[in-house]
Amino acid sequence: MSEPVLYIVATPIGNLADLSERAQEVLASVDYIAAEDTRHSGRLLSHFNIKGQMISVHDHNERQRCEHIINLLGSGHSIALVSDAGTPLISDPGFYLVRAVREAGYKVSPVPGCCAFIAALSASGLPSDRFQFIGFLPAKSGARTQVLDALAENGETLVFYESTHRIVDSLKAMQMAFGEDRYAVVARELTKTFETIHGDTLAELIRWMEADANQQRGEFVVLVQGADNTLDEDAIDPDAERILRILAKELPPKKAAGVAAEITGYKKNRLYQLLID
Ligand code: SAM
Repeated sequence: MSEPVLYIVATPIGNLADLSERAQEVLASVDYIAAEDTRHSGRLLSHFNIKGQMISVHDHNERQRCEHIINLLGSGHSIALVSDAGTPLISDPGFYLVRAVREAGYKVSPVPGCCAFIAALSASGLPSDRFQFIGFLPAKSGARTQVLDALAENGETLVFYESTHRIVDSLKAMQMAFGEDRYAVVARELTKTFETIHGDTLAELIRWMEADANQQRGEFVVLVQGADNTLDEDAIDPDAERILRILAKELPPKKAAGVAAEITGYKKNRLYQLLID
């Protein structure tokens, strides 16, 4: 008998064709499929003609379900965990279950695929080397302001999830916390018919969205450029600057810039400008 596994299976965030071949194979082969909403996931499974036995695992019963699922694994059954859309555990249930199953000594294996914020970040044009995923902001305005204020000086790209009901309010709260000129990108309805990815200052984004109610519909990822995180393509790295300064002690500025340009590969004019500045 093969080892029982809890698979964490990512499902599409709109376009059903994004369900990977491996995800289909795993969902078809496991003994049970643990789903956040069994009716919703049932529709996905029937689209792919997969007949699985379903268990419901959602925010309100996850902790109680752990024991049952561990017992199933103990009897040699493999289980797939899915959420309504995207990757389970990412602003979705599953954390307690995965921890409990790992602590009980069973194998947990991911079947990666769609994740709304990764898809949005990859297409946003915002710096993606360092980012902070915040997920949903608190619903209450006081708590929301507190979270946003604490992020105001953060230099990383900030990534939020938002729903149709609160998108304008949240953008306004971001404008208050980060300033109206902060650049942000709204990624709406990714992989679906009305997919829209639009970037502008927070003030302009709010104007644009308020002028067109259609832009307020659907599911959103909001990505905000980090504080003072404009890409400085002209920036000179500290080692090159050190070489320039050493040379400038011995040589006239133009000569120092020329020699430093040869050593470092930076443009002579850019180095000369740096010396003069
Ligand atoms: N687990 C999911 C994932 O991996 O992205 C996220 C689940 S969370 C409950 C749902 C939120 O994800 C939505 O409110 C929205 O902010 C974002 N989202 C999901 N699908 C999306 C899509 N197609 N386009 C834009 N945002 C989406």
